[in-house]
Amino acid sequence: MPTSEAPALVWFRDDLRVADNPALTRAAASGRPMVALYVLDEVSPGIRAPGGARRWWLHQSLTALAADLARLGIALVLRRGAAGAIVPALATALGAGLVTWNRRYRAAEIEVDRAVKAELAAKGHAPESFQAHLLHEPWSVRSKVDEPFRVFTPFWRSACAGAEPRAPLPAPARVRGLQTVPASDRLEDWALTPTRPDWSGGIAAAWTPGEAGAAARLKTFLDDEFAGYAERRDRPDLPSTSRLSPHLAFGEISPFQIRRAACHAVESGRSAASRRDLDKFLAELGWREFSYHLLGQFPDMERRNIQPRFDAFPWQPDPELLAAWQRGRTGIPMVDAGMRQLWQTGWMHNRVRMICGSFLVKHLLQDWRAGEAWFHDTLVDADAASNPASWQWVAGSGADAAPYFRVFNPVLQGEKFDPDGAYVRRFVPELAGLPSAYLHAPWTAPAALLAAAGIRLGSTYPRPVVDVAAGRDRALAAFDQLKSSQ
Ligand code: FAD
Repeated sequence: MPTSEAPALVWFRDDLRVADNPALTRAAASGRPMVALYVLDEVSPGIRAPGGARRWWLHQSLTALAADLARLGIALVLRRGAAGAIVPALATALGAGLVTWNRRYRAAEIEVDRAVKAELAAKGHAPESFQAHLLHEPWSVRSKVDEPFRVFTPFWRSACAGAEPRAPLPAPARVRGLQTVPASDRLEDWALTPTRPDWSGGIAAAWTPGEAGAAARLKTFLDDEFAGYAERRDRPDLPSTSRLSPHLAFGEISPFQIRRAACHAVESGRSAASRRDLDKFLAELGWREFSYHLLGQFPDMERRNIQPRFDAFPWQPDPELLAAWQRGRTGIPMVDAGMRQLWQTGWMHNRVRMICGSFLVKHLLQDWRAGEAWFHDTLVDADAASNPASWQWVAGSGADAAPYFRVFNPVLQGEKFDPDGAYVRRFVPELAGLPSAYLHAPWTAPAALLAAAGIRLGSTYPRPVVDVAAGRDRALAAFDQLKSSQ
């Protein structure tokens, strides 16, 4: 066949979208007949299988992507197994003249991609990879002395001082689909969605996975929720943040698209958001970039303390305490509300993630890795970089971490960030009848008030699994022990 008739294979991974997808755009521009591939790889060494919530989302997102690609005339082939074997084999079977993908950044994934690239190149399949998931690739931001950063503020200042991130790409308009499509798995056979029991109802009600859902979420945020972001973003009781994180995690929308749309909304005056709101929002996207920057330096940070001195921390593993935390039955309303929001909707507000994380690690002295693993399984936005980096930030073992001795008081945090108690009342309905003054510390309420609200502590709602003040003292004592053991 003439060279230009040798097909182009586009390998989709964390980029389940057709707009601003450089790998797809490159393949379309080649003029070759095209086919798309997604590989569910749970077997390559070091690959971390998606948790339950992400598996549910993946099913929906692949369904949406297949439909979007079909509208362009491109088939999506699904295969399950080791990507390192599947991609080159399919390229060879097709006689591919071009194979494209967008880069990913976990060490095990980089390893797979490097090997695939070498094999494809050796066999003449012309592999090409692109930047799409991050505004700044982990190795591209360097200090004046040519080192990576370990502290966020100078990292972000340096990143922002560099070249402006590129404009997002439109979805390709003219493509040629491959006529004879290779065999594909059936998505249903991957059993990504839960059946017995089907716990996905709350998650399904809260989200619209897929590229169109991501674009709609961005539009609603910019039109209705962006103004006041700098002030309101810590309030879990308000629609105060974008809730774009799962869409970003699956690449249904790119940071380039979000950045450009947010800047345009403010600069054109279309949004009532201020310059300060914009800078704060972009800095949060910056924390995502910084997490990947750390992942580049600490490839095993999902398992290992970034600060090795924390290896000697005297954790006190306790399965019952861990289970109470996971189920939202600690007796601390703000913690329980957060953990139930996570279980019901697959997502938790950032401020509450910090409160719940701090409570687990400090008040309960449970290893941050137990919290990270639970979040990995239950978050729809569970992210290879942001989840471990944030847990290490909370635990104090991270690079630019909250100091260990700063222990969040979950009662005061609740009173400050959920002042009317709307958030707790929504997720801990058994406390709904309690006046706001006692809602975040029901054990301090007079017996008559508890009775009037239908609450029996220890029966309808747990007593605190730990005394808040004593738990703080115990955490500080454990930290002192760590310091004196160094
Ligand atoms: P917005 O406030 O609208 O921010 C916009 C985007 O910026 C987010 O979608 C997200 O991509 C990014 N972002 C915002 N805050 C942070 C942050 N602190 N760190 C990194 N990126 C940020 N985020 C994840 O995407 N995946 C995770 O697995 C994850 N695990 C976390 C675990 C803990 C213990 C903590 C404290 C935070 C974690 N975060 C994680 C960060 C943060 O909580 C979420 O990104 C945020 O709540 C997502 O909501 P949003 O999209 O409305 O954020």
